[in-house]
Amino acid sequence: PLAGIDLLIVGSGFFGLTIAERAAAELGKRVVVIDRRAHIGGNAYSEADPETGIEVHRYGAHLFHTSNERVWEYVNRFTSFTGYQHKVYSNFEGEVYPLPINLGTINQFFRAAYGPDEARALIAEQAGEFDAKSARNLEEKGISLIGRPLYEAFIRDYTAKQWQTPTTELPAEVISRLPVRYTYDNRYFNDAHEGLPVDGYTAWLERMADHPNIEVRLETDFFDETQPLHKSAVAGRIPVVYTGPVDRYFDYAEGELGWRTLDFEAEVLPTGDFQGTSVMNYAGADVPYTRIHEFRHFHPERDYPADKTVIMREYSRVASREDEPYYPVNTPEDRERLLAYRALADAEDRVLFGGRLGTYQYLDMHMAIGSALSMFENRLAAIL
Ligand code: FAD
Ligand code: UDP
Repeated sequence: PLAGIDLLIVGSGFFGLTIAERAAAELGKRVVVIDRRAHIGGNAYSEADPETGIEVHRYGAHLFHTSNERVWEYVNRFTSFTGYQHKVYSNFEGEVYPLPINLGTINQFFRAAYGPDEARALIAEQAGEFDAKSARNLEEKGISLIGRPLYEAFIRDYTAKQWQTPTTELPAEVISRLPVRYTYDNRYFNDAHEGLPVDGYTAWLERMADHPNIEVRLETDFFDETQPLHKSAVAGRIPVVYTGPVDRYFDYAEGELGWRTLDFEAEVLPTGDFQGTSVMNYAGADVPYTRIHEFRHFHPERDYPADKTVIMREYSRVASREDEPYYPVNTPEDRERLLAYRALADAEDRVLFGGRLGTYQYLDMHMAIGSALSMFENRLAAIL
């Protein structure tokens, strides 16, 4: 069953598909991509809601953005992008504020009309207890960036819902993703390029896999011994790029890495517009979900029904082995286990570990694609 396969890729997310596309198109290798799910694309997969035709991102809203010119050039080979610019609002105690924290948020919260310098001085005073550069965890970083009152309103309880991990144990980087601005600019991302794929994520992902040298086998689990490309049949015999969970690969020998999973509750409502924007966060502990997505707003250029809309509430909880792992928790204990897994991964013969699950790292799409391009250039040849 291994004859004629130059490379096996486990996982058809952006990482796996980028490696597959490059190895097939650039090196002429015959590549098989397996995925245990019934569709390609990993978490970026989307599909049209059958009742309304509205494109729904099944694993949570995905917004493409990047400042990496190489990645931008690469992705434009497979899709063009709309001019969508992401904006997020937050409902705190029944009042809606713009995010990320900007001059508009600050003035609304303090019922003031501060200019940028006054706002900076106020936040510096309220943040005085911690210094951003030496912040050791999410709580210290959050307070150092925006001061305690704004932190307690917009970050503390939302983060508790999202992570259910003490904010003093969460890495500071989780919050560093969110900019703080002393202007009224409330674009969520700072990147040079941003947009959504014009004809949807799945069309983009399918074009990456559309090459005569690439075969995709769905509903095929690498650890299922009844399928011919299972781990013990291939490991060490043909080159493998593995993008599933790294702890699962080694049978949890070093313990389980902590993940958060999400539950999504989708609903079609009989109105043309439920919330007037694509994402509304709910800051308070009194609301059980973290946010509501309304998918029609991602594509204002499309001809969607005027009397129906699709919304999706998002809930976060600890992932067990049976759940889809979404966000690495990354406590100090997790980071220690990860080092042990990295050592095992480095010693594995002709297997490379990549992507969000394979490296236990929060990677945006452009980061997953960028790191796959680097792996292709720098490390793949050694196992082929
Ligand atoms: P994945 O997409 O997770 O693909 C891994 C694949 O491996 C999956 O299809 C899985 O089924 C398969 N697999 C696992 N184990 C096995 C096995 N044993 N056998 C066979 N197949 C297996 N990025 C952005 O840029 N913008 C966003 O707005 C954004 N929003 C996000 C929201 C959420 C809720 C999440 C979880 C992620 C978000 N991301 C976003 C990140 C984005 O999803 C990732 O960057 C991207 O999916 C990474 O691709 P990947 O190939 O590493 O992993
Ligand atoms: N965050 C928050 N309040 C918000 C939005 C974000 O406290 O209204 C914090 C929270 O800890 C979250 C992190 O900032 O996990 C990163 O937010 P982002 O929106 O980037 O998360 P994602 O979209 O990846 O879930």
